Amino acid sequence: MTKEQKIMLGHGSGGKLSHELISSLFLRHFQHPALTAMTDSAVLNLPEAQLAFTTDSYVVDPLFFPGGNIGRIAVAGTVNDLAVSGAKPMFISAAFIIEEGFPIATLEQIVTEMANEARHAGVSIVTGDTKVVGTGKCDKVFINTAGLGSFHVEFPPFPGQESVKPGDVILISGTIGDHGMAVLSARNELPVQSGLESDCACLNELILEVRKASSRIKFMRDATRGGLGTILAELCEKSKFGIEIQYETIPVRETVRGMCELLGFDPLYVANEGKVVIVAESSDAQRILLALQNHPLGKDAAIIGKVVEQHPGFCWLKTEYGSSRIVDMLAGEQLPRIC
Ligand code: MG
Repeated sequence: MTKEQKIMLGHGSGGKLSHELISSLFLRHFQHPALTAMTDSAVLNLPEAQLAFTTDSYVVDPLFFPGGNIGRIAVAGTVNDLAVSGAKPMFISAAFIIEEGFPIATLEQIVTEMANEARHAGVSIVTGDTKVVGTGKCDKVFINTAGLGSFHVEFPPFPGQESVKPGDVILISGTIGDHGMAVLSARNELPVQSGLESDCACLNELILEVRKASSRIKFMRDATRGGLGTILAELCEKSKFGIEIQYETIPVRETVRGMCELLGFDPLYVANEGKVVIVAESSDAQRILLALQNHPLGKDAAIIGKVVEQHPGFCWLKTEYGSSRIVDMLAGEQLPRIC
């Protein structure tokens, strides 16, 4: 297989070309005995434990943007969904839907990024699929990943949303909106060069450090599409409590703030790919904050608000002018194909 080659419909046929693509590209980069066995299912050894299982599809446009690419997001997004559930991410599947004519060299770049990100996060890519569709029937490449994680006896699943009570604190692991604005600027639709990078990263190591620091964490969620605002609004919905957050305490880069003002976005609803929202008992707030800040991925972490008895079902934001406004869920699609 030469670097100049492009994906042909035959690469998805299940025949000789498929076989060649799988062995010369996917197997070579994703090396794992369960994968190289080339059986219909990967046969895995898992500890006898509770499992976490998740899936997500990635259609980000463009495929490469400052600070990340579709391959890194496809691994990190699934790793993070497992990690925020409290599980140790272990195995990942990767399914590719590729447009006919897509350069194999670009596919290899994506696959290499996936392999590196998986290695870095300590997960193995053990099964997958390739389909090719005709030119114009999909845009370049779409990736679906599923992930399996297991819970350690020491670190069971988090108690969850139902355990959240007035008095609990809300933390965010760093600046919000970096991913959304980085992807937007990579679309060349902006009059300015932002110099901004996506925060795309696997959070499993950071989350493990936080868990070691506190056993009083109640709930975690990675603030991806819909942003921080949607997560907080969802958390309040159907509950008997409210949430109050302070505008000045929410970490937002100056560039992101500026871009949002210019383009009419609210950073609260801009996507992130490496930020976690944590709800915990207030007694452990400082321990958690310190654990976050001691890790490179959490250095800008902050306590941004608390759970309150007032205004049940609603999240209120105290603005920099001293007024308050309701934080609702994101309505419609703010930025399509952001992940
Ligand atoms: Mg998630």
